[in-house]
Amino acid sequence: MSNENKSIHEFDFNLICEYFSILERQGPGSPEVTIKALSFIDNLTSESSIADIGCGTGGQTMVLAQHAPGQITGIDLFPAFIDLFNFNARKQNLQDRLKGLVGSMDNLPFKNEELDLIWSEGAIYNIGFERGLNEWRKFLKTGGYVAVSEASWFTIERPAEIDEFWHDAYPEIDTIPNKVAQMQKAGYIPVATFILPENCWTEHFYTPQVAAQEAFLKKYAGNKTAEEFIASEKHETQLYYKYKEYYGYVFYVGKKI
Ligand code: SAH
Repeated sequence: MSNENKSIHEFDFNLICEYFSILERQGPGSPEVTIKALSFIDNLTSESSIADIGCGTGGQTMVLAQHAPGQITGIDLFPAFIDLFNFNARKQNLQDRLKGLVGSMDNLPFKNEELDLIWSEGAIYNIGFERGLNEWRKFLKTGGYVAVSEASWFTIERPAEIDEFWHDAYPEIDTIPNKVAQMQKAGYIPVATFILPENCWTEHFYTPQVAAQEAFLKKYAGNKTAEEFIASEKHETQLYYKYKEYYGYVFYVGKKI
C-alpha cells in the first residue's frame, strides 16, 4: 500500500487524538441531522436512559441533550475525548444530565434492558455495523431505539478507485437496502433511514479541518508520521469531493422488538 492510501488505523493513536481533539466533531454530521434522527424516536421521558457510543468530544451529544429528555451517558475509548466531553457538558450547564465515561463499545458498562435509546454517530464501524447492532440490542428495553450513522454506498456499482479505498478502510460498507436488512435481521423494526446532506461532510467536517491541518503541520514540521497522516486526511477529502455521488453517511433508526 502506498503512504497516500494508508488507513487511519495505521497511524499513531495519540497523534490522531490530538488532531481530532481540536475539531468540534470527529465525524460527518450536523445539529440539524441529529435533531432529524431524534424526530423518529417517540418513547423518551425525563426518566429515560440514553447512551451515546463513540461519542468523541460530544458535539452531537450536546445537541441530543438539548432536544431530548433523560440521562445521557457518553462512552468513548479515548480519555482525552472524554475529558473534553465532560468539560463541554459543564460549559453548557448540562453536567447533571450528561456523563462521559471512558470505555469500549465491545464491553459496555450497561445492564440488560437498561437503555431506552442507543445513539452512535459515525462510530459503530469500529466494531462493525452488524456486530454492533446485534451485541448492543440486549442493553435496550423492548420498544427502545437504536440510531446510528454509517458509511454506505448509494449505488450498486461504482468506480474502482473509490471501491478499493473503502474496501481497505471499511470493507463492511454496503448499500442502504443491505444495511436495512441487517438491522431487521438483528431484531429491530427499521423505522427510518436518511442520507446525511453534503454539508455534514463539507461545512461541518472537512472545512474545519483545513485550518487544523495547517496548524498541525506547523507544530509537527519535519515529523514524517504527522505529515503522512495529514496527507492521508487530504486524500480522503479529495476522494469525497470526487465520488460523493456514490457514497456518504446514512442514518439508520431501528426499534427493538
Ligand atoms: N460521534 C462522534 C465521534 C465519531 S468518530 C462524532 O460524530 O463527532 C469515532 C469515535 O469512536 C472516536 O471518538 C473514537 O475515539 C471512538 N472509538 C473508536 N473505537 C472505539 C471503541 N472500541 N469503543 C468506544 N469508542 C471508540
